[in-house]
Amino acid sequence: MAVDRASVIAWLNELARVYSANCGLLTELDSAIGDADHGASMERGFLAVQADIPKLPEAIGPLFKAVAATLIRTVGGASGPLYGTFFLRAGAVCPDKPALDAHDVLALFRAGVEGIVARGKASPGDKTMVDALTPALAAMNPEAGVAAMLEAAAEAAAAGMKATIPLVARKGRASYLGPRSVGHQDPGATSAWMLIRAAADQWRAA
Ligand code: ADP
Ligand code: MG
Repeated sequence: MAVDRASVIAWLNELARVYSANCGLLTELDSAIGDADHGASMERGFLAVQADIPKLPEAIGPLFKAVAATLIRTVGGASGPLYGTFFLRAGAVCPDKPALDAHDVLALFRAGVEGIVARGKASPGDKTMVDALTPALAAMNPEAGVAAMLEAAAEAAAAGMKATIPLVARKGRASYLGPRSVGHQDPGATSAWMLIRAAADQWRAA
């Protein structure tokens, strides 16, 4: 088994469901150390992606690039361009074949996360989505197969997300608060954990 187009669509549908279901949680986290828009932004972006599903390209690479364009257009804020970059870079490294194996899946997450780091210039420990994504990437072992690789990644992302609580924010809007950002979980690290968790849940059989 591998990750085919139907698996990718299942992931996108799941992301629309998860960000809608967790709009309130992400809003609450962003109201503590930001401007309370992260929940609505993520929900709006992935509902727009879901609405585009009937029109998405057949090949997985171009499909991810179309997702990127929709996210950049609809999400806004700091996270819109960053998640847009994730899907743009992921789409650029997707091989032109109908299904992705574990090495391909690792390559797309690596390209996506490296794109976010290149664009946002956050380092681990800056209290951003990078604190969930970098450990997730480090935990990915393609020899374990897609399902086990992503399960390990989701667990590492969860740990990274929780580890943002005691940190002082050094990037984005939360950094304006300085030491007052301590004691709050980063909203972007939370939505990033959900991104990986949804892939692990949907690609269990891959
Ligand atoms: P905004 O701060 O513009 O309102 P969002 O609320 O949508 O944007 O997203 C906030 C999240 O974006 C933060 O919780 C953080 O994880 C992430 N973020 C902000 N700046 C950066 C950056 N330079 N690099 C990586 N992630 C960032
Ligand atoms: Mg915000």
